[in-house]
Amino acid sequence: MSDPSPIVGPQRRAELAAGLTRVRSRIADACAAAGRDPAEVALVAVTKTYPASDVLALTGLGVTDVGENRDQEAAGKAAEVAAAGASARWHFVGRLQRNKCRSVVRYADVVQSVDSVRLARALGDAAVAGRDRPLDVLIQVSIDGDPVRGGALPGVADADAGLHPVAEAVAGAAGLRLAGLMAVAPLGWEPERAFARLAEVAGEFRAAHPEAVALSAGMSGDLEIAIGYGATLVRVGSALLGMRSTLR
Ligand SMILES: *Cc1c(COP(=O)(O)O)cnc(C)c1O
Repeated sequence: MSDPSPIVGPQRRAELAAGLTRVRSRIADACAAAGRDPAEVALVAVTKTYPASDVLALTGLGVTDVGENRDQEAAGKAAEVAAAGASARWHFVGRLQRNKCRSVVRYADVVQSVDSVRLARALGDAAVAGRDRPLDVLIQVSIDGDPVRGGALPGVADADAGLHPVAEAVAGAAGLRLAGLMAVAPLGWEPERAFARLAEVAGEFRAAHPEAVALSAGMSGDLEIAIGYGATLVRVGSALLGMRSTLR
């Protein structure tokens, strides 16, 4: 990342502050509507495509958790943020290739997108070799069961992509800590239907893994519905930072 200056101007800072105020009040309203304590729902600011200066402005405004979906971009930004003396909890939320695990374990605190036994093993090995404390892992689940779009498959007996074997692989890996589940509402699904289905999957999952209580669901367009169905992490990009010029 070549960010000319790690400091945003006053106008950008004001934009980000306003975005943060709006998103925080949406979260608070959704919690009130669902009868939930807002302390149960953490905001992950998804900063993909935006510079490290925006991350620094957000951490200056009190944001603690940051999400990225591409290793190269995330590694550079995390280094810039650390060099500026700030700290954030980095969540990797994108498709992860096994050959990127060694890089990701160096800066990420949470990987939200583990969806196969092979990936869990590669990430576990990388974590043991490349960090001194366990890496938090959320298993990304497929809500529509479409294997092409990624996500472990709940209730499917697939040795690599079934939710149960993936959970066992994460739970059994020395370098990983199984923390919960993540999902994205499938294209073309009403978020209501998607998150209702996810809540069912999460309920069954927690019965087997009572410690793994995190549920990452909801983005800029559907965070209220996700909170209504139990999300403990919402991943918000555009509502906070503005519309991205690229579709990702
Ligand atoms: C980009 C992204 C988000 C944030 O999306 P917005 O609609 O901009 O809030 C959340 N989760 C994942 C996995 C993403 O890739």
